[in-house]
Amino acid sequence: MTSIEQQITQLRSLLNEYNHKYYVENSPVVSDYEFDTLLRQLQDLEAAHPEFYDPNSPTMRVGSDLTNDFKSVEHSFPMLSLSNTYSIEELGEWIDRVEKEVGEVEYVCELKFDGTAISLTYENGALLRAVTRGDGTRGDDVTANVRTIRSVPLSLTGDYPDFFEIRGEIMMPYSSFDRLNAEREQSGEPPFANPRNAAAGTLKQQQSQVVAKRGLDCTLYQIAGRDLPFDSHWENLEAARRWGFKISDAARICHNRQEIEQFITYWDTERKALPFPTDGIVIKVNRNADRRALGSTSKAPKWAVAYKFKAEQALTRLLKVTYQVGRTGAITPVANLEPVLLAGTTVKRATLHNADQIAALDLREGDMVYVEKGGEIIPKITGVELSERNADSEPLRYITHCPECGAELVRYEGEAKHYCPNQSHCRPQILGRIIHFIRRKAMNIESLGEETVELLFENGLIENIADIYDLRPEQIAALPRLGEKSAENIMQSIARSMQVPFHRVLFALGIRFVGETTAKYLAAHFRSIDAVMSASREQLMEAEEVGDKIADAILEYFADESNLAIIQRLAAAGLQFEAQQADRTSATLEGLNFVISGSFANHSRDELKALIEVHGGKNLAAVSANTSYLLAGDKIGPAKLQKATKLGINIISEDDFMAMIAEAEPLNSNTDETEHKEIAEESPAISEAKSETTSQAPIQGTLF
Ligand code: NAD
Repeated sequence: MTSIEQQITQLRSLLNEYNHKYYVENSPVVSDYEFDTLLRQLQDLEAAHPEFYDPNSPTMRVGSDLTNDFKSVEHSFPMLSLSNTYSIEELGEWIDRVEKEVGEVEYVCELKFDGTAISLTYENGALLRAVTRGDGTRGDDVTANVRTIRSVPLSLTGDYPDFFEIRGEIMMPYSSFDRLNAEREQSGEPPFANPRNAAAGTLKQQQSQVVAKRGLDCTLYQIAGRDLPFDSHWENLEAARRWGFKISDAARICHNRQEIEQFITYWDTERKALPFPTDGIVIKVNRNADRRALGSTSKAPKWAVAYKFKAEQALTRLLKVTYQVGRTGAITPVANLEPVLLAGTTVKRATLHNADQIAALDLREGDMVYVEKGGEIIPKITGVELSERNADSEPLRYITHCPECGAELVRYEGEAKHYCPNQSHCRPQILGRIIHFIRRKAMNIESLGEETVELLFENGLIENIADIYDLRPEQIAALPRLGEKSAENIMQSIARSMQVPFHRVLFALGIRFVGETTAKYLAAHFRSIDAVMSASREQLMEAEEVGDKIADAILEYFADESNLAIIQRLAAAGLQFEAQQADRTSATLEGLNFVISGSFANHSRDELKALIEVHGGKNLAAVSANTSYLLAGDKIGPAKLQKATKLGINIISEDDFMAMIAEAEPLNSNTDETEHKEIAEESPAISEAKSETTSQAPIQGTLF
């Protein structure tokens, strides 16, 4: 791989991971500004190197919030994102582009509410459906939850159209957010990082009663439908207000750049007094006819842009830098600060990421430093006020040895962080690995909390994750603060963990860089721990999202004898080390073996693999005489192609493959036909929304 291609691949994989953390897990790890800066870097690289075009790049797709917990529903009109900028100059360029294209236009400036997008469908004045943005094409059906939000009208009044969709934002006001986090802290649950995550997380709750108690609010900002009463956004919103929707009264019509800038300046200050979170201003072209002329890309309309406010800053003193050791041995320097008020909360600590960052900032203990809270995540230091530096201050010396076990730290090639290599004897690493293993998203041994893990460890009962499966109830019951009842609960949780599917077991092992998403891709690709363990570096990199860094970490993990011994014990205990077969829906591909290679316009490789399995086919990793078809995409590996040609194997495209399964007969005559059809027809719908075109179609052009 060239270094440009490598950079692009790494950025894509990093942004995909951040998207997953943000949209699905609702616990972002970087600030929005940081995310947007990386996205911009990727956009610039892709623009300069169109040869690496990939329709699945995070620059081309809406970040998806789809989960398996809700029924997914196709949107009548794609639900897109917004392009954004943090710069007034760039906003000016956007205005110039709009006016060059369609002449002078009216704009509507609105607050950018910081929650999660929702689409509500009304039929004959009654709420029919509420769907999240999902991947822009399909969303999660969260109707039952949305019905509990008081500001969402269940029935309308006045002259509403018979059938229409209205889109808006579900938010958590600060008062509800503070209350919720206080409750969570009291009950030992981790608090939400910010109101946006809290709103998005709440909307995906399985129990509507819980949603009802959380105090969500909903403001609508866009009507969608074929027969809208007016040709202007402004008039349509006014009408929606009359029908009973909550529509913000902060919106204004602006005619030029100056008026737009005035609106921005006003709200940059005034928004701090609002009872709900906002993160910018959305500027939209008012008339639908102009919107149609401007069109959309696959990701965002060209007739609207978001101007985002930069995070708030505060100046305070850096008292001391301390160092934390994570479960993988990664060292994270932490800035201990003189407490300072920032965006409504008192900040005492900030993350410093790594030694390079400290060096780049030339940070010294005693310095006055600027602290930012981007997207209300963990605050970070963005600069030093040099004019206030003490003359006798000294550059900070990064530690050379582990603060916990004293081992000499190492730095892996290409890695920004230092690591403590003493995996087996460094306390926070041992505990961290066990705590990671029992987490809800891993093995979900929830009744064995962090404190009990520490107790078990202190009492010499567990030293690694495999020891959990040797625990006996009487050993647990004998520990302080625990009794027979707790022991019984813990034993039940441990027993239930045997059913946890393979991809979560793989995640639970805690291999460096193998997060939840990567574990899913690895499990889908290799299907069993044996296959992952025996894969070469190149073979590992054939799995989606696995680059050289992840591949090396996997190889390193399995090269360690003690890890192999642990896996052997876990397998003997009965954990799932093989992926389950997906439920079969047809036998159309029965007896056929497929090899997939390259990238595809409408599906990821793993989606195609899943389709092969549900239709009875088999996926093979390498081309051999046994292969029935080579399903070939763009940038297919030349070796595979050559081998397939030599062996006379049928080489088919994604379209050929979709045609093969389009007519599939359901296996079981009781199979729900509509459900079956949805699987087979998913691809054309997705491809329409993802294609990078200016959509001039009258319906799509009017809307999100
Ligand atoms: P976005 O949140 O920047 O803008 C689009 C969304 O704005 C719409 O879906 C809608 O929900 C909302 N919105 C609020 N008020 C609106 C109004 N008046 N009119 C129209 N829409 C309005 O875009 P996105 O695609 O949801 O998210 C992308 C952004 O999310 C990124 O630019 C980044 O800032 C952030 N993000 C952060 C991370 C992270 O790890 N921190 C990860 C992924 C995304």
